[in-house]
Formats: sequence, structure tokens, C-alpha cells
Amino acid sequence: MRFNTKLLHGSSNVKNPQREILPPISQVSAFKYESMEELEKVFQHKSMGYAYTRIGNPTITAFEQKINTLEGGTGAVCCSSGMAAISSALLAICESGDEIIAGSGLYGGTIDLFHDLEKLGIHTIFAPDMSPKALRPLINEKTKVIFGELISNPALKVLDIPAVSALAHEAGIPLFVDSTTATPYIARPLELGADVVIHSTSKYLNGGGNSIGGVIVDGGKFKWDIEKYKALSEFKKYGKAAFIVRIRTDIWENLGGCMAPLNAFLSFIGVETLGLRMERICANADKLAHALSEFPELSVDYLTLPDHPYHEYVEKELNGYGGGILNFRTGSKERAFKIINSLKYALIASNIGDIRTLVIHPASTLYIRSGKEEMEAAGVFEDTVRVSVGIEDPEDLINDFTEAVRSSIE
Ligand SMILES: *Cc1c(COP(=O)(O)O)cnc(C)c1O
Repeated sequence: MRFNTKLLHGSSNVKNPQREILPPISQVSAFKYESMEELEKVFQHKSMGYAYTRIGNPTITAFEQKINTLEGGTGAVCCSSGMAAISSALLAICESGDEIIAGSGLYGGTIDLFHDLEKLGIHTIFAPDMSPKALRPLINEKTKVIFGELISNPALKVLDIPAVSALAHEAGIPLFVDSTTATPYIARPLELGADVVIHSTSKYLNGGGNSIGGVIVDGGKFKWDIEKYKALSEFKKYGKAAFIVRIRTDIWENLGGCMAPLNAFLSFIGVETLGLRMERICANADKLAHALSEFPELSVDYLTLPDHPYHEYVEKELNGYGGGILNFRTGSKERAFKIINSLKYALIASNIGDIRTLVIHPASTLYIRSGKEEMEAAGVFEDTVRVSVGIEDPEDLINDFTEAVRSSIE
């Protein structure tokens, strides 16, 4: 099955009770049973069944199975947001005294989370460069995980998953990849060697900008050393599934960050058009990046531009696509604001992955809590504009942006 067929027909092992073509929205908190014995069996995991939506719900299961199929995992758990997914995944294996190695050009919320984890005694080392050569000396016996974004938002650095996963595995640690901006349409991190893939489903997977969510997918191939990963010791009997079982029946369930059933449904129908949307979004972004490059006043950052530092990864790792995010520098904050304010179609909004084109000035919004150094490591400067390209007609988008830029120069 190819990608677009798989999107529609790939996880049909979920049988809907009345043969509905879509999973019904089980908008309930709890599920009722005929006898106490039956419910007892569900709690003992001796029979399949749902008890309470924080722990499981059929609409959420349907979405989990769809994403799991797309990424080629052994199991997936949906969360209330991308941040809930990242925090649950990390807290499933890290405890006080442990270290995380992470990229420096990450999503601002993830950087903030790493700062919060310091208060729990979990220390993050930010690697300015995620090459194996730069990472190797940062690994020590306290390192529990390497965390990176496949295409970092908004820095547009590409993680060399085959090389970094080989290094991580040599050291006995897993590689967790946030693939929100790449999506399984562009690349599948588990196939490239990553151990766990995480998405904010709020972005491209949902696509319509109508619900917040996250998902953790376990590749199920990593050999967990139970001596090293003490948090997994109770789950040893599950072997290679120890991580996902620890998440589902333990940390995620107890932190309480489940996805809402209605959001699971909206994201389920949203993801079915992922292939079509990404095809159009990437083509639009490529055209817009080339059009904006014509202005000597701007410096444009997009992966398919020939002078981009990560250009070679477009063919090597991203199936020829550059993704939906492009950034450009304007020379000053004033000009950045002026351009943004005169756009007719692009919406000023703090999000990415919508079918509508969205723009933002990251320095005065997403990075307001970061230091200058951290911000610049994430590719964000005082004059940077981030664009999340949508599916509008490319001619209209190009006209909108080029007119806005022209009017800012006059
Ligand atoms: C948005 C985003 C997140 C956080 O997801 P939420 O759903 O907003 O919690 C994490 N990583 C990346 C790369 C993102 O773009």
C-alpha cells in the first residue's frame, strides 16, 4: 500500500459497532458494564474493554492506530497536546540525576519544558550541532536519551537520523524524534533508525487548525537495559514493548494528559488528507521561497533553496520535500511588522500546519521567554518572519507576499 492509500485503508482492523465508515465519537467519560466481574476483568487487563476515557476511548484508539500504521510503530498513545506527548515520553524514562541531550534549535515550548525539568533534577545539554562528532563527547553514563526535531521549528536544521541513531545505539541510549514539521508523508523517523517518534497533531496531522493534540509512537526495536532505565523495571516482562506499556498504563495515565475524543475524531478525519495537503503545501512553500529570494532586501531560509546549509538532506532524508515552514529576515523588526501587517491572506497567528497560510514574528512572541543566545540558536532574530505555508493558490500567495514586501521597501 502506498502512502495515500494507507491513509484511508491502512488501519481497518478497528471495527466500528454499526459499520460506520468513520469511528463514532465516543463523547463519554466512562463505559458501563453488566456485572462487576466484567469490569474487574477490564481493570486486571484480562479482557479488552474501556473503563474511563483518561485511560482509553475507542475514538482515540482509532486515531492512535492510524498514526501508528503511518509511522510503522508497534504502539501509539495519544495525548492532550504535543507538549503532553513530549513530557510523558521523557518522564517515562528520566529521573532525577539523569541527562538529556537535545538540539539547540528546537521548538520554544520544548526548550521551556527542558528548563522545567531542571527543577526535577533532570538536566539537558543543548548541542549546537547535532552531528555525531559533536554529540559523542556529550554522552556519559547519566545520558538517558537524545532528543531532536527532524526538521526543527523554526531553525530548519535537519537531523541526520541514520547517523545520530547509530551513535545513540552504540552508547545504549534511544533517539526520540519530534517529527511534527516533517510529518510521516515527508519522512518516517522509525524507518530511518529513530526509536520513538512524537508529533504535535495540532499542526499538519490535524491540518485544519481545529484541535490540539499529540502522539507518541514507539518503534518497539530498542533494547532497554533495565539496569539503566530503572523506571522500566516493572515493565521488563513486556520486553521491547516495555516503554509503550510504561507510558500507557503508568506515567501518561497518571499525568492525565489524554486526548479529548472529539479532538481524536477531528484529527482522524484531518489526517486522511495529509498526503494531498503536504504535496500542495511543499510546492507552495518552494514557489514562495524562490519568489521572495528575488528581493535583495530579504534573506530567505527554506530547505529547497540551493544555498541552504541542509539542502543535501532534502533528497537524502526528506523525499525531495522542503516542508511547510519558511523564514525570511527583513533587516529590521519594523520592516518585519510592516510586511506582516500588510498581508491580505496570510493570517497573523501563533501556529503552523494549518491549511491557511499563517505568519508570525517569532522574536516578539514564541521566543519572548528565551535568552538572545537561545533564540539565535533557534534561527530567530529580531527581523525574522516565520511563514507556515498553506494550500491557497500559489499565484495569490506570491502576489500577497511580494506586494507586502514591495510596500515595506518604498
Ligand atoms: C507545536 C509544536 C510542539 C508542541 O505541540 P502542542 O500541540 O502545541 O503542545 C512541539 N514540537 C513542535 C516541533 C511543534 O511545532
